[in-house]
Amino acid sequence: MQGLGAAGVATGLAACGRSEQGPAGASNRRFNWKLVTTWPPNFPIFHEGVERFSQDVSKMSNGRLRITVFAGGELIPALQSFDAVSQGTVEMGHGAAYYWSGKIPAAQFFTAVPFGLNAQGMNAWLYYGGGRELWQEIYEPFNLMPLPMGNTGVQMGGWFRKKINSIADLKGLKMRIPGLGGKVMAKAGVNPVLLSGGEIYTSLERGNIDATEWVGPYHDLRLGLHRAADYYYYPGWHEPGPTLELLINNSAWQQLPEDLQLIVENAAAASNIWMLSEFEAKNLAALKTLREEHKVQILPFPDDVIQQLRKFTEEALNEQAAKDATFAKVLTAYRAFASGNAEWSALSEAAYAQALR
Ligand code: CA
Repeated sequence: MQGLGAAGVATGLAACGRSEQGPAGASNRRFNWKLVTTWPPNFPIFHEGVERFSQDVSKMSNGRLRITVFAGGELIPALQSFDAVSQGTVEMGHGAAYYWSGKIPAAQFFTAVPFGLNAQGMNAWLYYGGGRELWQEIYEPFNLMPLPMGNTGVQMGGWFRKKINSIADLKGLKMRIPGLGGKVMAKAGVNPVLLSGGEIYTSLERGNIDATEWVGPYHDLRLGLHRAADYYYYPGWHEPGPTLELLINNSAWQQLPEDLQLIVENAAAASNIWMLSEFEAKNLAALKTLREEHKVQILPFPDDVIQQLRKFTEEALNEQAAKDATFAKVLTAYRAFASGNAEWSALSEAAYAQALR
């Protein structure tokens, strides 16, 4: 291998006289990139998964591409990462596409949509079903290239200080629930509140909010939410399989030789499955702790609540589509894939889950 590389360099230099062109010349070039996440420092799974990705890339490229990772706020405020990567202040970012829904409403489809695709469905749509191409098309005007990198799996519905027996019980509740889920809840009379992770426990414990969603058993247990509310509802209809996002500055991406691009793509795909796997394994252990040690009441949302929220979700999606042509375009593609996915899942995953009951 080394011999081939050396011969290639010699030929490349002789042929064009430039060391930056051609695969062999490019293979010597070293890149030192910065990646900013939207996560707090050492945030389990989310931030740790990004650190792991950076180490993988460094090892696989034999140090030719080094990525220094900064947590949210270390280099720039967490939610400025989109602009920082877009402008090339840093080369990469990690977060979730729906954080940018203020700029690009359609970005929500690339994280999660209420009652939409789960992790398996998202991967199928993004990798094989045309989703990734749409995502790239929408980000291109911002000089950005997105890749899927991580998924939480189906989240939990959230913690409530009182029992929810019907849709009427939601009316007037103050709940921390971001994004489209919050818009849907508002149609049920909920007052959706935006709070960062660090503010949730105190707000709930003091009764400043009546309910909150966060992630799943593992992260919710770490935050101590079982000490602030008695009822833990499932499923996370609002976030059925949120995909996490690797953002890459497109100009920087074009500078990478093909082999380094492939290393980044494959390391991101490996991180995608690794994070989902860690979520699955840690959530099931934490669920047991919540149930057995902390005696948390773990309840399903009543059927009428789920049915009403589904109806409100369709209304919210159609309203947004009427205001935004790009949103409408992605919604059409997403619905087409999701309905086929539901049909197949009814005979496969869903039927199998039913068989295990
Ligand atoms: Ca959540």
